[in-house]
Amino acid sequence: MNPWLIGAPAIASAAAGIVAYGGMHPRAQLFGQTISRTDSPRKLAITFDDGPNPSITPKLLDLLDRYKARATFFLIGRYLRECPELAEEIAARGHIVGNHTESHPNLFWRRPAEIRVELRLTHSAIKNVLGAPPRWFRPPFGLRNPWLAAETRELDMRVVMWTLLPGDWRAPSAEWLIRRMQPIASRAQRALQRRSGTGEILCLHDGGHREQNADRTRTLAALEHWLPRWRDLGLEFVTIEDAVSAPAP
Ligand SMILES: [Zn+2]
Repeated sequence: MNPWLIGAPAIASAAAGIVAYGGMHPRAQLFGQTISRTDSPRKLAITFDDGPNPSITPKLLDLLDRYKARATFFLIGRYLRECPELAEEIAARGHIVGNHTESHPNLFWRRPAEIRVELRLTHSAIKNVLGAPPRWFRPPFGLRNPWLAAETRELDMRVVMWTLLPGDWRAPSAEWLIRRMQPIASRAQRALQRRSGTGEILCLHDGGHREQNADRTRTLAALEHWLPRWRDLGLEFVTIEDAVSAPAP
């Protein structure tokens, strides 16, 4: 059943608005609990979607190593099958690998059976390559619907959203992207003074879902700019596993 058709026709348009909010807003909890912050203002969880990408991911791993940064990579299943050694390398360097579906569809419009196939293909691919199933899931485009929560629960995965999505896939220049990532430093400066509260989850991309070998050099350049500055502010770069201490729902 299509999620837009839930509810009586009389309230359909209001319901559609709520459903759209629940499906699209990164911090909405309507379609099941999601992780959208870290548990400390000191912890910055950097996440990368749409890889692994042979032309970017190896350089990114070296850059992260240079700053002892741990991160989380939400991999597309069909790319993982093309370069499983890159997924092994990501895990070997201490990062967390998560599930980002097999072919990157907009799940909002998908039926339960389709969602099941998209999640399970990548789930088993990760399990085959790394020897353990993924525990974290990021929906393509951040879009969810009522059936996704049931499926992720069944696979024992938690859904991870973000606090900042700077749009690195469409960055016209590194400078543009550097400016778009400024909120991390500004918010950290204020939050670290309070010494309590939550921290940021940053969503970047080391690949492109439309084609392999996408150019993400501006993402690398912006990180090269910010990593030492964030470190000097006192931020720790943690995996999503280290970003949340609450038990799974
Ligand atoms: Zn994606």
